[in-house]
Amino acid sequence: MTTSPLLEFTDLTKRFGGVTALDAFSMHLDRGEILGLIGPNGSGKTTSFNLLTGIYPATAGTIRFDGQEITNASPRQVYEAGIVRTFQRSRLCLELSIYDNIMIGDTSRLSQGLWANLVKRNSFRAEFDASFQKARDLVATFSGHLADRMFEPVGTLPMIERRRIEICRALVSAPRLLLLDEPSAGMTHDETDQLMRDILDVRARGNGLSIIIVEHEMGVIERITDRCVVLSYGRKIADGTYAEVASDAEVQNAYLGV
Ligand code: ADP
Repeated sequence: MTTSPLLEFTDLTKRFGGVTALDAFSMHLDRGEILGLIGPNGSGKTTSFNLLTGIYPATAGTIRFDGQEITNASPRQVYEAGIVRTFQRSRLCLELSIYDNIMIGDTSRLSQGLWANLVKRNSFRAEFDASFQKARDLVATFSGHLADRMFEPVGTLPMIERRRIEICRALVSAPRLLLLDEPSAGMTHDETDQLMRDILDVRARGNGLSIIIVEHEMGVIERITDRCVVLSYGRKIADGTYAEVASDAEVQNAYLGV
């Protein structure tokens, strides 16, 4: 059994023209860990996700995932390696059903063409039954009452249920690393609270899933993370438990404004 980190950034750097969005950022993520990636606006959190998921090439530095270098891998290669992401703004297709939205995340179908699968699913009955069961089981673990409403359009659902569907879509390909970008955005306090319980449940169900969460709600970060990495102007300024980073003078100065 290996004890090396699941994910490692080494001196990861990204420049956009004259702007250094990430400046020799090094960090690691352990297997099964929930890591908070925090920092003020413009500190490089989204850029970190964008480099990790192959949206932008790095200017310098490396990304290693499960022992393999994946710096500048394509989004598809990253996805196939087992890294999936949810976005701050919902990327659900509101007119499509719960089932169809989740199926979009099922990488095992990609080689056959996503839209072909959506259109021709009746001619692949056995395959459809298996994927339906997979999607339904996933939905049932989050929202029992939605498991019997798999063909309802997601546009009819409240925000918390949409977020859950997005997480189901991310989880349907059985990823090793889940990246959550501001999961509390657009939700009430109670909904956020419920979603945090969901995320902790997902982790408790195990399979070694690791999670990186970008979130500005510090209550969320305090409650669900094992460790936090703090960025400021693209540089890592702290790495430790929430209590440790929250009491760090440089973090307070840069981020908490106290
Ligand atoms: P955060 O997610 O922490 O708010 P970002 O990673 O979005 O921060 O941004 C870090 C810095 O990089 C900011 O100064 C931002 O303006 C800049 N930046 C991010 N993406 C681009 C881009 N595509 N083109 C130019 N500058 C960018």
